Amino acid sequence: MYLNTAIKNRLLLDKNHTLHDMKKYSIILFLSFSIFACQKKVKIPKCSIASIAIENSSRKGPYQDFDTLFEMHKEYTAKSFDYPVGKPDGKGYYNAQKFTKNNHLGDDWNGVGGGNSDLGDPIYSIANGYVTAAEDLDGGWGKVIRIVHLFKGKYYESIYAHCQTMTVQKDTWVKKGVPIATIGNADGIYLAHLHLEIRDTLFMEIGPGYSNDTRGYLDPTLFINKN
Ligand SMILES: [Zn+2]
Repeated sequence: MYLNTAIKNRLLLDKNHTLHDMKKYSIILFLSFSIFACQKKVKIPKCSIASIAIENSSRKGPYQDFDTLFEMHKEYTAKSFDYPVGKPDGKGYYNAQKFTKNNHLGDDWNGVGGGNSDLGDPIYSIANGYVTAAEDLDGGWGKVIRIVHLFKGKYYESIYAHCQTMTVQKDTWVKKGVPIATIGNADGIYLAHLHLEIRDTLFMEIGPGYSNDTRGYLDPTLFINKN
């Protein structure tokens, strides 16, 4: 009789343990899934070297990640644009190779002093935005900064190339007019200048710099003057 009760109690204890363990594992499983789901939801957009060009108007996929990001940081929505050198209006600089001249896909900003007189001069963010890349691409590009701007409900990207130094990092916010880099020569390939592009389509490759196909590219000076 005593033995029977002891066995019963032991069985009951085992059963309770099993129930307890099951509860414990369910909670762990639930928590793991929640963390996984949560990570999925707040994923930061990957856009530095994404290869697909998606229309600005369709606002699907990665564009929605930017919608979320800019919604959370409304103070970084772009209100206006300015020149990237010679603050505030490009003073002391000239556009040495305008958009579409020789199939150029951007503007080349040079100091009026010519040669390497502008080497090391500050480059400014042309508007509020989110830095999606600050990296050395070598070759004809050198150090490149890419910034995404949300302006009047549409997305734009500004690209600053051949930099000597970069003072901002990927995945950070910038305000209009803050120094982001200095003018360089892409490790001695060119005379110092800033190659600036403005695009109205995000997620395009860094591209060739020159092409007669200007889809996705805007005339930077025209765009800045208008906005
Ligand atoms: Zn250029």
